[in-house]
Amino acid sequence: MKRRIFWNIFLSSLIAALLLGGVILFAQYRTYETLVFTQLSAECEYVKSGLLATSDESAYLSSLPARDRVTLIDADGTVLFDTSADALKLENHADRPEVVTAQVNGEGTSSRYSTTQSMKNFYYARLLPDGRVLRIATSQQSVLGMLGKLLPTMLLVLFVITVVSVLFARYAAKTIVQPINALDLENPLGNVTYDELAPLLTGMERQRREIISRMAALSEKQREFAAVTEHMREGFILLDASDRMLAINGSAASIFGADAMSVKGAHVLMLNRSVALQQALEQAKIDGAGQATLIRGANTYQVLASLVMDSQSPAGTVILILDITDRVAAEQMRREFSANVSHELKTPLTSILGYAEIMRDGVAKAEDTRRFAGKIYTEASQLMSLIEDIIRLSQLDEKTSLPEMVPVDLKAICEDVCQRLQPQAEKSGVTLNVSCENASIRGIPKILEEIVLNLVDNAIKYNTSNGSVGVTLKKVDQRVELHVSDTGIGIPEDHLSRVFERFYRVDRSRNKQIGGTGLGLSIVKHSAETLGATVQLESKVGIGTTVTVSFPALD
Ligand code: ADP
Repeated sequence: MKRRIFWNIFLSSLIAALLLGGVILFAQYRTYETLVFTQLSAECEYVKSGLLATSDESAYLSSLPARDRVTLIDADGTVLFDTSADALKLENHADRPEVVTAQVNGEGTSSRYSTTQSMKNFYYARLLPDGRVLRIATSQQSVLGMLGKLLPTMLLVLFVITVVSVLFARYAAKTIVQPINALDLENPLGNVTYDELAPLLTGMERQRREIISRMAALSEKQREFAAVTEHMREGFILLDASDRMLAINGSAASIFGADAMSVKGAHVLMLNRSVALQQALEQAKIDGAGQATLIRGANTYQVLASLVMDSQSPAGTVILILDITDRVAAEQMRREFSANVSHELKTPLTSILGYAEIMRDGVAKAEDTRRFAGKIYTEASQLMSLIEDIIRLSQLDEKTSLPEMVPVDLKAICEDVCQRLQPQAEKSGVTLNVSCENASIRGIPKILEEIVLNLVDNAIKYNTSNGSVGVTLKKVDQRVELHVSDTGIGIPEDHLSRVFERFYRVDRSRNKQIGGTGLGLSIVKHSAETLGATVQLESKVGIGTTVTVSFPALD
């Protein structure tokens, strides 16, 4: 802009200066021409008076100073006398404009360029009383001639004008542009500048406000989006059409062990090159949605990729990564449980069938029949308790079929269960010690009874003869703690974490003689969780086991 203003001003002032110079020159030349003719007229008048007064015209004319050319022309145009040339050699002058005009009007003027062009001849003719014409001619500089003479001066003037124009144009451009350059675009209406800029500045202010409000709305949306995705437990990755990461939340970054900020903008394969991720993406590109299972460390994830379409073309892909470790584990557990149930049911049934077959075929001796019937009874009882445990577990799993929680006197339950198990304890040579504080909790009596029964039953079963079982109930802060401890065989450390699993038994062959389904502790754990209680188990091989169930107190 500054350069444009400079050139406009510079060329304008240069052209103006040249035009002015030209006009002045032209006016000067016209004045000069008029002056020449005035002088020629005065001179002609003077020569005419002399000519009229003399008797010897030739002598008079010859005596005139040789400054200007004097010609005497007859009425028919014949040159009678000429101060510069031989009159006889000159052609007829009747057609000369100044002569023609003089013969008509009494006087005539004309000017013609001489052969050199740099000179111009001025003619003034006057009609004499006798019809002849007296003509005075002078030769002067033509415009071109004058220009030629003035050239160095003109060039100097032109140079000066150019320099002045350059300086002026530069100054003017700077002065015009400076307020524009100094505009404060952050506050357009605060500028004091040209009035002509007011509409522009008002428009800029309007646009600035609009941009600010749109930016604020955009940042707000971006913040909301980031807040939502950042608080998602699922991994979230947003890709552009060329699979570069536009957004990645903390969960996704931590799943892949990356820094969310540093991987932004990188290709998704820079984050992870797993086949699962590539498969899900490729499938999404073909079918619109794809999924794959990704295993990282101990965790299993489901990768869901979904193509985002803009009109008809893909604009990007959204990837969701769900942690399905628990779901996979639960599924695995369910499968194992079904397999175990079948196995556990089949074992006693096989025995029952075996003994029944022998008795049916009458191959058993009479004295063995009673023993076999006893075996059938034991196996059937085992089968029954197994089925009862399975039903109990499925009820706990269902939750919906459970009765409502009510205030329960846990002390009464503990004492009742211990009383019921006293004969079994005595049979095993185990002493039962019960020490219970009054403690009421919120729960389901049947389930609480089962918890205590299973724990005391285990404490008796896995005890040693002359061993003891302690059942204590006490209030600790806002909780009621049930401790069932024994001086039994204990559980090896590497089995401790697994005894709560369904059908898990430490020593299968030994436990077979003892009985049990392998579901007791898992029923305890499940029941406790249903009632909002926690279970802890501590055990040392050869020393004994203590199980603590901690319930929230009623008040
Ligand atoms: P089970 O019906 O076989 O007793 P549980 O689920 O009650 O099944 O117990 C799982 C396993 O944990 C038992 O088979 C046993 O090996 C071990 N166990 C449970 N309680 C005790 C205990 N008090 N002392 C030692 N071992 C125990």
